[in-house]
Amino acid sequence: MNYDILIVGAGTAGMSCAITAAERGLKVGVVEKVDYVGGALHWSGGHMSAGGTHLQKEKGIEDSPEKHLEDIYRINNKSGDIDLTQKAVFEAPKTIQWLTDLGMEWSQDCPRIIYGHVAYETARTIYGPDKALSIYKAMLPQWNKHIDNGAIEIHFNNSFSGLGKKGSRYDSVLCNSPEGEKMYTGKNIVITTGGYGSNPAYFQEKHGDIPLVSSCYPTATGDGHGIVEKYGAQFKYANYHLPSLGGMEEVEGSGRVDFNKAWAMVLTSVYRQPRDIYVNAHGKRFIREDEVSPETRELAVMKQPNWCFWIVFDERALVSKDNNGNHNPIVIGWSVAQIKEEAKKNRSLKMADSIEELAVKTGLPVDNLKETVASYNYMVSSKEDTEFSRTYLEDAISEPPFYALKVHASVLVTFGGIKVNKDLQIVDQDGKVMEGLYAAGEFLGLGATSGSSFCSGMAITPALSFGRLLGATLS
Ligand SMILES: Cc1cc2nc3c(=O)[nH]c(=O)nc-3n(C[C@H](O)[C@H](O)[C@H](O)COP(=O)(O)OP(=O)(O)OC[C@H]3O[C@@H](n4cnc5c(N)ncnc54)[C@H](O)[C@@H]3O)c2cc1C
Repeated sequence: MNYDILIVGAGTAGMSCAITAAERGLKVGVVEKVDYVGGALHWSGGHMSAGGTHLQKEKGIEDSPEKHLEDIYRINNKSGDIDLTQKAVFEAPKTIQWLTDLGMEWSQDCPRIIYGHVAYETARTIYGPDKALSIYKAMLPQWNKHIDNGAIEIHFNNSFSGLGKKGSRYDSVLCNSPEGEKMYTGKNIVITTGGYGSNPAYFQEKHGDIPLVSSCYPTATGDGHGIVEKYGAQFKYANYHLPSLGGMEEVEGSGRVDFNKAWAMVLTSVYRQPRDIYVNAHGKRFIREDEVSPETRELAVMKQPNWCFWIVFDERALVSKDNNGNHNPIVIGWSVAQIKEEAKKNRSLKMADSIEELAVKTGLPVDNLKETVASYNYMVSSKEDTEFSRTYLEDAISEPPFYALKVHASVLVTFGGIKVNKDLQIVDQDGKVMEGLYAAGEFLGLGATSGSSFCSGMAITPALSFGRLLGATLS
């Protein structure tokens, strides 16, 4: 079958590309390595961002793509790919409208300003009630319609393994399948295989000794990256890598954390006043725990051994409410009882009757931890943090049991990716277009559209937008 568009990967970008192309009457083929569609949408937080949406207008929020772009440049110092950032931002409100037309349900509390990343100046982050599953649910009926009418042909359990060429143009995709190697041909090939955060070996190849503790979707193994690089494609932006703070390993040393199940609220202090201290592997504090900026926090943790730290607190901190009267526990969505239950399991969360015992259980240097807690308690009594200028100094760490929660600077999205030009054509190491090959989604690297900072919504929104744009323009 010679498809008009042959898509590799049926996730966020692949689905939006296939649906849009099928709507135009094109013949679409999709190869997918697992036996279901949706990719990272099954796990993602689904925060999208766009300026000038109908959702903002309904709430009287004045915004535009121009303002969104300006805000991104302020946050990331224009470090992303300028053509792609502009394209993503100007397409974003159309993508929001497209999803709305597909029946997307939006949460009542948005558009919002999100403080888990460096905040935009305007409320423009939006999401559905079921995180990214809301996006998946909006696209699925349209996807199924085109599967049923034959406009989209999906080949499950086909893992992309190579490319074929006719003359100067790439026109075929090789796949490993249960029936052996298969070849599919297409006038245009669109690669949307996602990121590489679930492939420790490839991650290390690109990032050297940066510790990988990942919350990326299991299929994000960078297969597509490795393959197109063999044909000469250019890889960029690995140097922009930033982690997200808060992942708790269920199995110590596994390198895996779950963003949706066990995540400590240490991204910023905006949502939770710190009733605890953070210490590194030496048992020493390294930052004011009431630091607001997520990026300042991320950069500080990146300077600590193994990019991890322990949150140390006592019983009073666990059970007390904050100044707003909220219980607001240290682990997102967990009750006090759940935290106590987890502590008994002696995994990422340890519990002890004394600071000394806590140090032994965590492996932190006993004398250092005792000294750090004593010094912090003195600063609470004197109402002055002479080390890091923390101003929220409400409670000493003095009421047993004591707790220590180990959290990691974890990977949700990979910043490195394959270079494309402004028309989303893959380019080689000399900057020359690799004819017939296009790409979208995290495959391009978050660095392309978000630069060297996290800009809210700038992974999933461009993935959907670039998928749609390719589906709307290729023929
Ligand atoms: C926990 C979590 C939270 C997140 N929260 C947000 C957020 O709030 N906002 C935001 O903007 N971004 C967020 N992201 C990132 C965002 O969700 C992803 O960047 C985006 O969904 C990726 O879309 P994609 O189409 O590039 O890849 P995916 O949706 O992952 O799709 C890739 C598809 O390609 C397939 N594939 C892979 N290899 C092959 C192969 N060899 N052959 C065939 N098929 C293959 C996969 O099976 C998959 O179906 C989050 C990510 C995670 C993991």
